[in-house]
Amino acid sequence: MTSVIILAGGKGKRMGSKVSKQFIEIKDKPILYYTLKRFIDNKNIDQIFLVLPKDEIEYCKKEVLEKYSLKVDKIVEGGFERQDSVYNALKRMDNTDIVLIHDGARPIISDKIIDEGIKYARVYGAAAPGVMPKDTIKVKNEENFSVNTPDRSSLVAIQTPQVFKYENIMRCHEKVKENGDIVTDDTMVAEKYGYKVYLYDGEYTNIKITTPDDIILAERLV
Ligand code: C5P
Repeated sequence: MTSVIILAGGKGKRMGSKVSKQFIEIKDKPILYYTLKRFIDNKNIDQIFLVLPKDEIEYCKKEVLEKYSLKVDKIVEGGFERQDSVYNALKRMDNTDIVLIHDGARPIISDKIIDEGIKYARVYGAAAPGVMPKDTIKVKNEENFSVNTPDRSSLVAIQTPQVFKYENIMRCHEKVKENGDIVTDDTMVAEKYGYKVYLYDGEYTNIKITTPDDIILAERLV
């Protein structure tokens, strides 16, 4: 089975809004509505695990799932950090061979990115979409002076869904937990424990809604 973990277990503090980021509305519907709908409508996804903050599960059931008739297979309680939320969901799976891990805050996700991720994960064990940064990226020192300029063609800004063979990523997350590692995403979890992640073309429109200006862009894109 192919399962997706939709991560909406954070509060999105950088947004400066009262409601959690995933419930902010774009064109009269919550961000999470768009994200869920894309995965529900994709033919290659068998199961959806939705991770939510514990105190927002009831709100989400009423204001998103029931209101828009969206069906998910399991609701999982979020953890302290993103990595804890992922691990909580991985532990609840029993018959998954391919797992996609996707930020609930990326509502403009295409079938092409989802389908290619599944295809490449089957071949390489781990895959993630990414785009070449549009800006020149600098490494700076603590005094704010530039140190060097990495070659742009070797840089990739990584997006989600990040897709894995279930057994591999589960084993890596168990080690992360055991060793108390701090990671920012799941490609880092895989790399840390020896897996190579195949990077394929993402889309510039697959933005993660993080700060208020992203909402303006998302209104145009949905
Ligand atoms: O905060 P940031 O935008 O980097 O979070 C990425 C994704 O991880 C978001 O969709 C957020 O809801 C999720 N997350 C989570 N559990 C946490 C923290 C973040 O599911 N404890």
